Amino acid sequence: MKYPWVVIGGGPAGILSVAKLLDTGITGILWIDEKFNVGRIGEYYKNVPSNDTVKDWIDMLNSYQCLRTFSESLGGKYGLETSQPLGVIYHIFANITEYLQKQVKFQKGYVKELKYERNQWYINIKNQHRIDKGDKIILATGSHPIELNYQTQLYNSQTIPLDLAIDERKLSDYVDTSDTVAVIGSGQSAVLLLKYLTDLKVGHIINLHKITLEETVNSLKALTKKWALSFLASKNKNSILRVSNSSVNREKWLPQCTKIIYAVGFERNPLPKIRGTPIDLEANDGILGQNLFGVGIAFPATEKDRDGHIIKLVGFTSFTRFLQEHFETWLQI
Ligand SMILES: Cc1cc2nc3c(=O)[nH]c(=O)nc-3n(C[C@H](O)[C@H](O)[C@H](O)COP(=O)(O)OP(=O)(O)OC[C@H]3O[C@@H](n4cnc5c(N)ncnc54)[C@H](O)[C@@H]3O)c2cc1C
Repeated sequence: MKYPWVVIGGGPAGILSVAKLLDTGITGILWIDEKFNVGRIGEYYKNVPSNDTVKDWIDMLNSYQCLRTFSESLGGKYGLETSQPLGVIYHIFANITEYLQKQVKFQKGYVKELKYERNQWYINIKNQHRIDKGDKIILATGSHPIELNYQTQLYNSQTIPLDLAIDERKLSDYVDTSDTVAVIGSGQSAVLLLKYLTDLKVGHIINLHKITLEETVNSLKALTKKWALSFLASKNKNSILRVSNSSVNREKWLPQCTKIIYAVGFERNPLPKIRGTPIDLEANDGILGQNLFGVGIAFPATEKDRDGHIIKLVGFTSFTRFLQEHFETWLQI
């Protein structure tokens, strides 16, 4: 079969891309994901407190004509200025997925190769013999946490993967009051981990960070900002030692840690093998190659924060703005 548009990825960015295509009146869309369970949010982050307010979510949904009815269930149920666990928006995205699947051709599978030949894309899905074709492809293939490797045989610490640690209930299975836990990082996830570990009363917490406390607090949102201001920035934080992430400090402090968690950002998931056209994965308008586009946490817009650090704009609201800014151009190419 041949499709005018193909969207690869069923996380929030893929869902919003399909909605954008439908809003434009485009039909004959092929949508591919392995599970269609709202990407990493469905898999790992349902219990994570959101950075957004309910109003942010409502505004985001209302900016897609075909998603407006889904915002109604939020408005009546939760205070507009409250922040809810990501599970709340997960359920809405899951309902949206079902709704969108009725209007497109959806295919469960993992795209392993994309080949551009004679002005069209050939889409090779793992364990499927049929090769579908597409005119234009949107990659919304997501990212995963970066894991460093500070441990050597000298350090006897166990790494707790961020995807588990970021859920406080799961983290509680991995730590206890006798642990000394190192948290590497200074962003939203790192501070959330410091909060969890404090709440779980682990013995000692050592935070190896790259930016000042003030810069950290400036970059935070919602619950983590509130907590950082009231606890982390106060003098009464005896269980947390914050030290800069230098090799000297790593050598000094990591051998004392029984557990280590890396909260040092995300990197793009492996992409399908792309053949037949040059690609530029860093393009800031999402145009990665001929009739090939990228959106979501794998291909985020960037901006400078007030401390001059480059930040990646990764969130449903940012993905929506990105599509609003660039989609018209993608259509016209
Ligand atoms: C802890 C945490 C909290 C966050 N909180 C918020 C928040 O409160 N608000 C907010 O707006 N954002 C938040 N984000 C940021 C962002 O919105 C999420 O990370 C979101 O999951 C990114 O969506 P995505 O669709 O780009 O990627 P993903 O959710 O990773 O989805 C990518 C999808 O593509 C599929 N895929 C990948 N490769 C292929 C392939 N080759 N073939 C087929 N399918 C493929 C994957 O299986 C997956 O389903 C948070 C992120 C984290 C890590």
